[in-house]
Amino acid sequence: MTSLTAIPAYAAPAPKAPLERTTIARRPVGPHDVLIEIKYAGICHSDIHQAREGWGKGIFPMVPGHEIAGIVTATGSAVTRYAVGDRVGVGCFVDSCRECEYCEQGLEQYCVQGTVATYNGREKNGEPTYGGYSTHLVVDEGYAVRIPEGIGLDEAAPLLCAGITTYSPLRHWNAGPGKRVAVVGLGGLGHMAVKLAAAMGAEVTVLSQSLRKKDDGLRLGATHYRATSDEATFEELRGSFDLILCTVSAPLPLGSYLGLLRVDGAFVNVGAPEEPNSLNMFSLIAGRKTLAGSSIGGIPETQEMLDFCAEHHLGADIEVIRADQINEAYERVLASDVRYRFVIDTATI
Ligand SMILES: [Zn+2]
Ligand SMILES: [Zn+2]
Repeated sequence: MTSLTAIPAYAAPAPKAPLERTTIARRPVGPHDVLIEIKYAGICHSDIHQAREGWGKGIFPMVPGHEIAGIVTATGSAVTRYAVGDRVGVGCFVDSCRECEYCEQGLEQYCVQGTVATYNGREKNGEPTYGGYSTHLVVDEGYAVRIPEGIGLDEAAPLLCAGITTYSPLRHWNAGPGKRVAVVGLGGLGHMAVKLAAAMGAEVTVLSQSLRKKDDGLRLGATHYRATSDEATFEELRGSFDLILCTVSAPLPLGSYLGLLRVDGAFVNVGAPEEPNSLNMFSLIAGRKTLAGSSIGGIPETQEMLDFCAEHHLGADIEVIRADQINEAYERVLASDVRYRFVIDTATI
């Protein structure tokens, strides 16, 4: 049995400090908990935002990681969903109130009391949470999902954030046959959005700053790839799309993008710019358009997404790294120099 009081991990000891090897304690396995031996943890851009306090004050030491894939190695006495040996994943949250109207609908991500974040959060008893850059995790079985056979645990890890963050709005706004979907940005989120929207049957266009990743975009399932640095793109594609899924966190000229929508089209943001944006309301009124946002997905939908990915043989495009390469990987993420997600092999911690 693993000692839960000295679990190897990589942590940022202070804001903006490089991550380094350390050990952390996990809670004892309770009746409803599973112990997961983490195999792979994805590096999400939000790990960097939080470790560097780009979104506000953090809890340190911080063990990031909310794209977690591993194997169940122990179960509590009351656990019914999982058994030792099961392949499981954990995403962006590890608990919620469990009784509000959204939790009851399986929309835990919108829990009125807020979710307990997988890291940089606090359990209901006030203990800090530590994420996936570690070898083991204890979690309530209700907040784990099953990773179907047919998806490698390494390529599955990023699905727990990048996958569900794009799957949920694509489903909500009915991406599918006959629908024209534009994906803004071809990074960790964008590359999954292209794969998922294409697998759902939509006609996909990538809108990227340049044509640098055009070959990748078409290989991932896009039919068209256009540069937003080219003014002609906005004129030629005017009124083209049913849905625009924006995965970038840079502030965009919203009016220009809303002009690309058809009547009743929606522009949905999953990227999180640090600065507010302004909008002329006429760009919504003309064409009955929607400007919306979307946050990850609930537990049932995350399971649905994983099953969908297995059925369509989809995983993330990944670059597997050792734990001692995390700091270097952070710099490369910031430079958009990754195709398309770094995944830490946690055996190297
Ligand atoms: Zn994330
Ligand atoms: Zn709730």
